[in-house]
Amino acid sequence: MQTHFTKAQLEDPQIREADSILRKCVHCGFCTATCPTYVMTGDERDSPRGRIWLMRELLETPESVSADTGYHLDRCLGCLACTTTCPSGVDYHHLIEIGRERLDAKVPRPLADRLMRRILAMVIPRAGRFRLMMRLGRIGALFSPVLPKRMRAALAKLPRTLPTFDRVGRKTMTFRSRTKGTRRVILLAGCAQRALDPRINASTIRVLNKLGVEVTVREEAFCCGALAHHIGDAGAAREAVRATLLSWQEELDKGDVDAIVANASGCGTMVKDYAHMVGDDPELAGIAARVSALARDVSEVIADLPLAGIVTPAPEGRGSITYHSACSLQHGQKIHDLPMQLLREVGYEVKQPVEPHLCCGSAGVYNILQPEMAEGLRQRKLENISRAGAPMVAAGNIGCIQQLDGDIPVRHTIQYIDWACGGPPAV
Ligand code: SF4
Ligand code: SF4
Repeated sequence: MQTHFTKAQLEDPQIREADSILRKCVHCGFCTATCPTYVMTGDERDSPRGRIWLMRELLETPESVSADTGYHLDRCLGCLACTTTCPSGVDYHHLIEIGRERLDAKVPRPLADRLMRRILAMVIPRAGRFRLMMRLGRIGALFSPVLPKRMRAALAKLPRTLPTFDRVGRKTMTFRSRTKGTRRVILLAGCAQRALDPRINASTIRVLNKLGVEVTVREEAFCCGALAHHIGDAGAAREAVRATLLSWQEELDKGDVDAIVANASGCGTMVKDYAHMVGDDPELAGIAARVSALARDVSEVIADLPLAGIVTPAPEGRGSITYHSACSLQHGQKIHDLPMQLLREVGYEVKQPVEPHLCCGSAGVYNILQPEMAEGLRQRKLENISRAGAPMVAAGNIGCIQQLDGDIPVRHTIQYIDWACGGPPAV
């Protein structure tokens, strides 16, 4: 794609980065077929190619930006399916981040929108606050019919029963392996996940310990910052990223850390991108590069270990599972087959729904900020899952699990692996 930035504009490193990304796009349109929002609306401006065009206009001539640009950029899920499909290697991930940041600086959002985003960025990344909000939300749900649409969507997403609070991550702790092992990892305990389902961290630690891996969780690493980053709260995102990096630096300086493990793929994608995000920040650049190099999804860590050695016998088989491939895992981290391979290795029959590349509509807090599009995608995914015919579903991200859990139970892949290795039943 041709661009027409002025010399003065190109002195800005962010514009230089955007320019080199834009120039890679040849407008072939392959990405449109796998873009969930384009599939749902058929509107070119809801496609990656259309959004790339809108962003070029926004960045080249910010004074001419219209409300339309914000509307269509907001509807992007950030699922990154377009990056998997694009034959030219267009880095849509970082382009949309630049586009959104510039748009927010140019066109202030309505007050109600800003307020909603601020509340989400303040509450969800703190597991304790999030849990309190869930309690209050149950009272708020009584007034649901008279609340604004987005507020209703947020309340509808709250779980019917509150799980016990996840003690993992409340303070710095190390879970030692009884098996003789040589590996040591840092686990990102997560924020929303701790408030929503403590079983995921428990299963992760149990399986890793059985495989001889010592697991350390740092209290200060309370959130990876992804949620605040994606809703445009740069201050809250930086606070979370800085706290996490400095805390992990202390742990890494003790030596012998083999990996930094994320079991929520949205967080894993973010941590793997810390080096890019932090850029040349004098305080954080060095540690961010170390952390990104060590970041792994839990499936990647387990794949390197002798899993077959800890599986319990199941003479009658373990049943079949439909695997839902979270966008942040398959598109963000390019990990699609590996979790299915692990599930098969421990004895499950694994099925895939049709349209496995399409997002379920969760996408962080997209299902709260864009409830209609999110619900359309959820229904489409649920129908595809139901057609696959398995009585259980596995996914590698808490957002997808919350979005899809229902008549057919959805659990984290690690919970099924844990079950097959003598842990508690996943369903
Ligand atoms: S597939 Fe890639 S090169 Fe083709 S239009 Fe989409 S982003 Fe541009
Ligand atoms: S990130 Fe997802 S929703 Fe956004 S343009 Fe790419 S494919 Fe479409």
